[in-house]
Amino acid sequence: MKTTEFDVVIVGGGFVGATLALALQQTSLRVALVESGALETDGQPGFDDRGIALAYGSQRILQTLQLWPDLAQHACEILNIHISDKGHFGVTRLSAAELAVPALGQVITAKAMGQVLNKHLLASTSLSLFCPNSVIALETNLRQVNITLDDQRQLSAKLVVAADGQFSHIRQLLDLGTQQTRYGQTAITGNIVCERPHNHRAFERFTDTGPIALLPMTQQRMSLVWTVKDADVDSITAMDDEQFLQSLQQRFGYRLGKFLQIGERQHYPLSLMRVDAPVQPRTVLIGNAAHSVHPVAGQGFNLGLRDVAVLAEMLAEQTGDCGDARLLHDYQQQRQPDQDKVINNTDRLVKIFSNHNPILGHGRASALSLLNMLPPLKHCLANTSMGLAGRQAKLSRGLPL
Ligand SMILES: Cc1cc2nc3c(=O)[nH]c(=O)nc-3n(C[C@H](O)[C@H](O)[C@H](O)COP(=O)(O)OP(=O)(O)OC[C@H]3O[C@@H](n4cnc5c(N)ncnc54)[C@H](O)[C@@H]3O)c2cc1C
Repeated sequence: MKTTEFDVVIVGGGFVGATLALALQQTSLRVALVESGALETDGQPGFDDRGIALAYGSQRILQTLQLWPDLAQHACEILNIHISDKGHFGVTRLSAAELAVPALGQVITAKAMGQVLNKHLLASTSLSLFCPNSVIALETNLRQVNITLDDQRQLSAKLVVAADGQFSHIRQLLDLGTQQTRYGQTAITGNIVCERPHNHRAFERFTDTGPIALLPMTQQRMSLVWTVKDADVDSITAMDDEQFLQSLQQRFGYRLGKFLQIGERQHYPLSLMRVDAPVQPRTVLIGNAAHSVHPVAGQGFNLGLRDVAVLAEMLAEQTGDCGDARLLHDYQQQRQPDQDKVINNTDRLVKIFSNHNPILGHGRASALSLLNMLPPLKHCLANTSMGLAGRQAKLSRGLPL
């Protein structure tokens, strides 16, 4: 069978793979995207869909890629963040005004995000889409990677980018080692209608069961991510909506008035996964395929999008072989500090706030109060979580590739 040649083959058309493909449209590279699911664009974003918090830095990348006008109509600004620990006094507040940014972030449903990205992929005249298709075999030699799809079609690439998610098949085909931490926790998500308007406030509240995040959404909904211990999942699942909202209300309190209604609840078992060596000969793993983090700080996609911004810039600027080992090495060198910081901070946050030792409880309260009183430290942490710390890639600075 004839082999179709590409410079870059991206495996996985989730948020990370799709944005990389759309970014590389600006280059002269021949790019293919292989995605195992169909690219759905129909249906309206519904009541029952998980919200994704996009950091200010991510919004800027999506703006540079000219995706923001389509995303903006589904997005809700976060202007204030309120962080508290149930049963303790410490509170930290972050505000867009204080940090001199238009918004701390934006919340958009995963469904709306997927639909907008898919619409742009399908409209592209330069990308080659292989959907629905999966990669079943890879063979790497000095010059290229030979790829076999599930329908036996053959592709070749100078570079394979694995963006096929937390359970990456490419990672398995290459037999790459990972570090895994199982938290024994599950995230329960759902969209909630509250008695009081959210006024663009996001809440993170650490409770006896685990953190509760409530993010402001369009139509005055709040997107809930409630982290609970695995041992409690069955009893919480068995609750009807009223019991569930009561139990949540008891832990969250009445800052948003009474919780009135919840949409469909979804469950996500939580773990930290990091691949040992994300760069391999002519292959690089990005996004959740390389690192998947606990959603407590809403950083997973934001981190993956910064992988995209740096890789796209390096690929656009190379003049020779885009699968060159030096280029991939430099990419990982550049991304490592940000990845380390987000992964370690998130892991620390989960462990500190999952510990019920009363002494630690007082320490947490003092830390939150102290943070609130130390603007420079607060700014530094806020800049990291807004994706504005460290060297900014061109796409993050509003510059085309
Ligand atoms: C409860 C929860 C809340 C979250 N909230 C936030 C948040 O607020 N902010 C944030 O930044 N992040 C958040 N995240 C994390 C975010 O959802 C992920 O980081 C992001 O979706 C990862 O994108 P990805 O494209 O790397 O992987 P995925 O979204 O997993 O996409 C992988 C893609 O690869 C395809 N694929 C898989 N195998 C193959 C194959 N063999 N061949 C071809 N294609 C294949 C899949 O169909 C899929 O489309 C949250 C996560 C959870 C669980």
